[in-house]
Amino acid sequence: MTKVIHNFNAGPSILPKEVFEAASQAILNFNDTGLSILEIGHRTSLFQPVMDEARALVKELMQLDDQHEVLFLHGGASTQFMQVPMNLLNEDDIASYTETGTWAGKAIKEARLFGHVEIAGSSKTDQYNHIPAELNVSPTAAYLHITTNETIAGTQWQQIPYDCGVPLVADMSSDILSRPLDFNRFALIYAGAQKNMGAAGVNLVVVDKTILGKVNRTIPTMLDYRNHINEGSMLNTPPVFAVYVVLLTLRWLKQQGGVAAMEKKNNEKAALFYDTLDSLPLFRGPVARESRSKMNAVFVMNNPALEQEFLERCKQENMIGVKGHRSVGGFRVSLYNALPLSSVQALTGLMKDFAQKKG
Ligand SMILES: *Cc1c(COP(=O)(O)O)cnc(C)c1O
Repeated sequence: MTKVIHNFNAGPSILPKEVFEAASQAILNFNDTGLSILEIGHRTSLFQPVMDEARALVKELMQLDDQHEVLFLHGGASTQFMQVPMNLLNEDDIASYTETGTWAGKAIKEARLFGHVEIAGSSKTDQYNHIPAELNVSPTAAYLHITTNETIAGTQWQQIPYDCGVPLVADMSSDILSRPLDFNRFALIYAGAQKNMGAAGVNLVVVDKTILGKVNRTIPTMLDYRNHINEGSMLNTPPVFAVYVVLLTLRWLKQQGGVAAMEKKNNEKAALFYDTLDSLPLFRGPVARESRSKMNAVFVMNNPALEQEFLERCKQENMIGVKGHRSVGGFRVSLYNALPLSSVQALTGLMKDFAQKKG
């Protein structure tokens, strides 16, 4: 019997067991072809349906209109930090950014290479412990960029600023497909797959095609979204296996009842975790309640001398990925779509037990 492991890793992170099984099978014998998915051409009648179905399922699950195109690109979410301003921001124009954590900070740094950046709202001086309540967006800004979930700070936008008055761009790497949003009201959405959607090596990009073609710089072929749209996300060899793992995860998600069903499960897991956290004086959550992330929960101990011992207990119980990010310390547990409620029950059980003994 394989032992139960509770995987709270932040990324790459847990995926459904069914996905791992089907993905392994595809490496050995893809769709009963006698061939591995790793040895077939991407433009063949074997692989083309994988790309087509993955793009169609994203459209369906996110209920996207025809103006929004779905792309699978290389380079991780970090490449989007530069690809977004390269395609949307003229040198003399302003892009508005919210400064909510490490990831937003990296996006801002890249945008400054292409034009002017204004900070519409920031929580930097408060160690990124909340999402700014008020935003100041110039009406002439090319777009407003938000990071819907800050994976390291453990914050999440609970109210999306749809009415900011300019096109809305979002890095959804760590909460993509975890809750229904009005996805058509975003001009561009990007997400690295390895947090909540699949294997590392591929990015999802959803883009409203009417916002493209408005900058006056020359964009290199591979970095121009329009070229990828024209070629059906097959401008060059896509990361075939990573796309396939995304497809398997999307199928699983649909079978589970879609994004709304995911949100229900995620709400249940987050409520159990945070209710437990709030009930135990030994622990403390540094994030403001209304900004708490349902994907990455960050917490600390009021007596830091006990933190190592708690981590040891987690290890004994096969709970992995509980240690906080190196830049923040304390603990972080990721509660992505594929994490079962039973793992959160195990963790909160351990927290209560630990608190009682140390009480
Ligand atoms: C992980 C992460 C990234 C970076 O993703 P890469 O694919 O490693 O480039 C960017 N933004 C957020 C919110 C993330 O969680």
